[in-house]
Amino acid sequence: MMDKAVQNRIEERLLALPVVQYAWLEGGEIEFSQRVREICRRECPRYGTSWACPPAVGTVEECRERCGQYEGAFVFTTIAEVSDIENLEETLPTRRGHEAITGQIREIFRDCGLETLALSGNSCARCGKCAYPGEPCRHADSMIPCIEGYGIVVPLLAEKAGIAFENGRNIVTWFGLILWK
Ligand code: SF4
Repeated sequence: MMDKAVQNRIEERLLALPVVQYAWLEGGEIEFSQRVREICRRECPRYGTSWACPPAVGTVEECRERCGQYEGAFVFTTIAEVSDIENLEETLPTRRGHEAITGQIREIFRDCGLETLALSGNSCARCGKCAYPGEPCRHADSMIPCIEGYGIVVPLLAEKAGIAFENGRNIVTWFGLILWK
């Protein structure tokens, strides 16, 4: 369980960030599903194109084991307003802002002496073109993989955390997860 004083320090610093909702969970409360991985494989154009996505991140079982090494989980959301949520060309670029905030939250945890594994709501967008598969990841220490790519069932995560999965018409809701120990 997170030390209360450390939790307070983290929550104080979160006030400066545009986080909409957040919750603290035990690491074991996260549910994984092979079915999520199948949806990635069938429907996501990023599948097989990034170090931050499957199959590069390993099997769902390997992802579960990696996450299982952490003591707790911090779940949060950010939002972005768009004119048409169905237009991926408009909605996808908003993930960059969320990824930056995820990185900032990870730094807050690290500043408190915690080891972290950060996951974000979409594939890593850090480089213009991902180095996968020909070269190693250019930022392996700080790259943030995709939550769904790990096989995590985000609607269940939202339900367990008591966090809204959606926030209204033409509002993109991005989820982030910081595993800590
Ligand atoms: S940091 Fe660059 S090379 Fe690494 S996963 Fe992200 S886009 Fe790909």
